[in-house]
Amino acid sequence: MRFKRPTLKESKIASMEYVGECIPSEYTVFPKGCFCRIHKPKDIDWLAEHEERGQSFKSFLRKSMKAVPHGYVDTILIIPVGPFPEEEFQGFSLKKLVSWTAAFYQCNVAIGPALSLEQVKTEMREGLEGQLQLHCKTIMDELAKLSIGDKKLRKKVLVRVGVTLADLYPREEWNFVYGLAVASRGLGLFSFARYMRENGDDESEMLMSWSKSIAKVEKKTEEKLLDLVDSECIAEETTDTESTSSKEQASILFRCAKVLTHETGHLFGISHCTYYECLMAGCNHLEEFDKRPLVLCPIDLRKLQRSCKFDVVKRYKAMQILADQFGWTNTGEWLQQRIDFIEESNEEEHCESKIKESKSSSSSSSSSSSSSGRKKKKKQIVTKRVNIKF
Ligand SMILES: [Zn+2]
Ligand SMILES: [Zn+2]
Repeated sequence: MRFKRPTLKESKIASMEYVGECIPSEYTVFPKGCFCRIHKPKDIDWLAEHEERGQSFKSFLRKSMKAVPHGYVDTILIIPVGPFPEEEFQGFSLKKLVSWTAAFYQCNVAIGPALSLEQVKTEMREGLEGQLQLHCKTIMDELAKLSIGDKKLRKKVLVRVGVTLADLYPREEWNFVYGLAVASRGLGLFSFARYMRENGDDESEMLMSWSKSIAKVEKKTEEKLLDLVDSECIAEETTDTESTSSKEQASILFRCAKVLTHETGHLFGISHCTYYECLMAGCNHLEEFDKRPLVLCPIDLRKLQRSCKFDVVKRYKAMQILADQFGWTNTGEWLQQRIDFIEESNEEEHCESKIKESKSSSSSSSSSSSSSGRKKKKKQIVTKRVNIKF
């Protein structure tokens, strides 16, 4: 079936809890230019190949299988599967990803006990590029039964999210999969293998090759990521800092953050977005993935807010601090635009209610001039065009 792009009216209705509702400013599409309708898919794009029905805010509320933080159960547990670099590598660090996920979901995020390659070796295979591929179901089962020694932490876990630098495959006939999320089990598994290659580009080999990894597993030697990666490549990495520019470094972390927050979004019950160019839109290939922003559209933002109960501006500000630290300039600017818009709108609403209050207590004529001033200001915000590209 060919994908039919939702109209602006359909997208607006999808943001509502009930028809005719006045949508709070946080969940509107302003300031203009911040959100863009989903593009018509090309032949190879996700929406050309997958039938997606779209998920309105109302249908999200009806969904029963989703993670909702409650009481002390408020922690996203990230479980490393296989080796990870101990230090920052090509701009990537698990610690940075944890802080971004915490800001994004406004939840606690902790790193749990790691699963070794030895524990997930069943059905591991060599991929088409000579890379190590791990079998998804094997890992998911291990993630589910992994015991968390820390009693206090165990009680707080809302979802378990496995992350790995190895490539993944779900079943024999599939070449690979970026990751998968099973909301009913509160389990997710995502690979960074295709975003974090040896030379920091999209063409070089994946970090974990089949031959080196399998040798380690067979010898049961201690796993260290750097032992699994080509030593010549690492030498180049450490001597020639120009080889991976800060922009590219930002891009590797940016991509990993994107995949982690997108897939975790599924655990929170958010389906693929069919309304806007949004973090939650499905991706079929790297080019499509790179075009997507690292932020949620207003419809999906409203869904997440309902479950996580955060203050939207506070969340945006926490994300902005990290975006600046990580060198994600466009995202940082985008967040600033949204913060300014929401704060100005809320200020206006506050003024409006003050005016209403004073109107009801006295019949002073001064309110009409304030009101026209507000309208003028509103117009100024709405027509401010910001073209942010991710
Ligand atoms: Zn997805
Ligand atoms: Zn969306």
